[in-house]
Parts: sequence; structure tokens; C-alpha cells
Amino acid sequence: MEMNIPFVPSVNFRKGRTQPHNRGGKATPCTLIVVHYTAGGDFDATVDFLAKKNPASASAHFVAARSPDDGQKRPGGVVQLVDLDDVAFHAGESAWDGQRGVNAFSVGIEICNWGPLNQDGNIFTTWAGAVYPAHLAEPVFLGGRCWEPFTDFQYETAARICAAIMETFPDITPDRIVGHCDVASGRKLDPGPAWDWERFRELLSSTGAAQGRAEAAVDRKEVGHE
Ligand SMILES: [Zn+2]
Repeated sequence: MEMNIPFVPSVNFRKGRTQPHNRGGKATPCTLIVVHYTAGGDFDATVDFLAKKNPASASAHFVAARSPDDGQKRPGGVVQLVDLDDVAFHAGESAWDGQRGVNAFSVGIEICNWGPLNQDGNIFTTWAGAVYPAHLAEPVFLGGRCWEPFTDFQYETAARICAAIMETFPDITPDRIVGHCDVASGRKLDPGPAWDWERFRELLSSTGAAQGRAEAAVDRKEVGHE
């Protein structure tokens, strides 16, 4: 699989997805993609945090910025931190379809987005209490609260990455691309209601790679880098 995405190696991963990870355990093939928001602002800071030693040993396979120009250190707006054949630590306590410990059989994609916002008059603040930056997109009101919307670039990037992952792991069908909230229900909200799954799935199917048409994926990748 060739995605032309810069690799920024994270120290937080478990080598070898196909290796048994418990004594007497079985190797686990990759069958799921988990979409997250970062609940954070800066792309470079997020990448640095996930690449270096951090308290939760958290990481993800990919991080997507709001735009290709967001990173001062890393132009292009998307990086890979963990090899697809290795396990990243993105989902925590989790289960899907009766199978616990989702990290072992999933790819994690982090999308830079503040998630839920608090509103006080004309002022929006983040969960961290900081003022929501004016240069970011106008918040959307969904499900009783305000959220940062996701950008066109993020939908296109997520679709492109997922199409390529699906070529590598054919067990991942479109219905096996889920949110963190779906595998850690009651504990996690992300990617939240601002993530338009219908729009994402339309984009994904339009890449053609979801149906195994690799050439279409290559074309899209080039378009995405102009
Ligand atoms: Zn998450």
C-alpha cells in the first residue's frame, strides 16, 4: 500500500499485529477501523504528543489536521505514526461485536477537532476552558449542544486513508469503520454527531478502492496532494 503519507514513528505501539499478545493467546487479524477526534487544537502538538512517551502510552496509526497547511513542522496535514502491522493504543477499554480489546484488531485514525463546545453568548469555549479560536469553522448545533465541524480535507483524507487500509486488510468492509463511541460506549463520544458518516461513506465508495479498484485510489491520492 502506498499512500505517500509522512511517517513520524511513535514509541507507543506493540510490535507485530499477527503475534499473539497474551500468553496462550491467538494472533488477531485487523478487521476494524476506529475514527476519533483529538479533542484538541494544534496538529503538530497532537502528533508530538502521540509520537512521544505520554502518560497513557496513547497513539494512533494516523492523525489528520484540519487543513494541509496546519502543521508548521509537517506540511500536508496528515501523518502516520504506527505501522499498519503493529498495534496502536487508541481505543482503551473497548469491545466490538463481542470481541474485547479493540486495539489488537483495529486501525486508529485521529482527526484534529475540539469535539463538544460550550456556549456563553457569542463566545464558545472548549472542554479545556479555552476560547474556541475564531479562525476555526463556525460551530454546529447538534443533539442539544455545539460542536466543531469537520473539514472537507478531513473527510477526504479519512476516506483516502480508509480506502487504502481496506486494500491491505480486505476483512474491513465499510460497516467495519466505526467511531470510538461505538467501541467504548458510555465512555467516549468521539467522533460525535458532527462527523457525517453518510458523507464519509459516499466519499469512501467514490474512491473506488473500497471495491478493490486500486487505480482509482492512486488517482485520488494524487488529487489530494495538489
Ligand atoms: Zn477516541
